[in-house]
Amino acid sequence: MWGLVGQERAVAALSGALAAGRAAHAYLLVGPERVGKHTLALKLAQALNCEGDSPVHGEPACPEPSRRVEPCGRCEPCRRIAAGIHADVQTLTVEEAEEEDERRKGIHVSQIRELQRVTSLKPFQGRSRVVIIDPADEMNVSAQNAFLKTLEEPPPQVVFVLVTADESRLLPTIRSRCRRLELRLPSVADVETALRERDVDGERARLLARLSAGRIGWALEVAADPSLLERRRESLSQAGALASMSVAQRLELAERLAQEYRRRPEELLAQMEAWRDWWRDVLILQAGAEDGVANVDRLPDLRRDAARLRRDEVAAFVRALQEARRYLGENAQPRLVMETLLLEAPREAPRRAAVRPQPAPSAE
Ligand SMILES: [Zn+2]
Repeated sequence: MWGLVGQERAVAALSGALAAGRAAHAYLLVGPERVGKHTLALKLAQALNCEGDSPVHGEPACPEPSRRVEPCGRCEPCRRIAAGIHADVQTLTVEEAEEEDERRKGIHVSQIRELQRVTSLKPFQGRSRVVIIDPADEMNVSAQNAFLKTLEEPPPQVVFVLVTADESRLLPTIRSRCRRLELRLPSVADVETALRERDVDGERARLLARLSAGRIGWALEVAADPSLLERRRESLSQAGALASMSVAQRLELAERLAQEYRRRPEELLAQMEAWRDWWRDVLILQAGAEDGVANVDRLPDLRRDAARLRRDEVAAFVRALQEARRYLGENAQPRLVMETLLLEAPREAPRRAAVRPQPAPSAE
């Protein structure tokens, strides 16, 4: 439905509201990374502005445009929205900044002020102005407070779509004023089908679907750009190498990664995601559930780590990775976060034995 994979419930709720002419002023799209939240936001913008004839499931096109339940994807407004050039549809996000300090401010209050100015105007081209805030949890506190005022007295003909993977970072007063839609991870089988429908060949579709663990956005991106898979392989090899690194090597790596984060934060986040998947696979193997492993093409290395490392250390590190990601999102100092994280990575040998080797048994 609406070209989204595995999101029948969210789409049905939206198209039902549109069919009844009862679109909300504000939606909150919640769900894990890369499941299609932003895509769904754009589809909603299209549905609200579509001018095409799109017979839905063989029925004649709906005569009243505001009651359209599915975007046609072909008309002028639909195409402009998909290309990101529709005057009434905009995405508010963290502004690009050279300076780390600037970027760390997230979505700031001056952006919300500008938004308030624009949304007080009538739509230029279409029926509805749609403002997508993605990731909405990047609004800092003063921005959230300013935005709350807008939500309390929503301007007419405007629909706000807040997109987030972490709704706990939004003020409860904002959350309560939005209609919440939850997006779930589609099944691996759904992702595989979607890849095949997009002409990815069978073997590759199966592997990518398995590796994606349901993150359709990731699977599509990698299908289109094989170099991403290569980079992921490198990240996974590094994940496996962590356990053999000395403290000095870990600190050196932490420093390098923190510097990289300053330049290209998304690359480090992708790397940490790959690490998390790796260590989760190790845990799954240690629990004896090999069928659940995502990185099926790396089974021998995963088995090696599962056999040589302590399960409690692996589990603690998976948690530490999630926390580190959160700390980075909360603008903690990257170097400190990475040092703390890497020192928590599992160790190959029991610590005591590494410091003080046991005396060799005397030969009898
Ligand atoms: Zn259309």
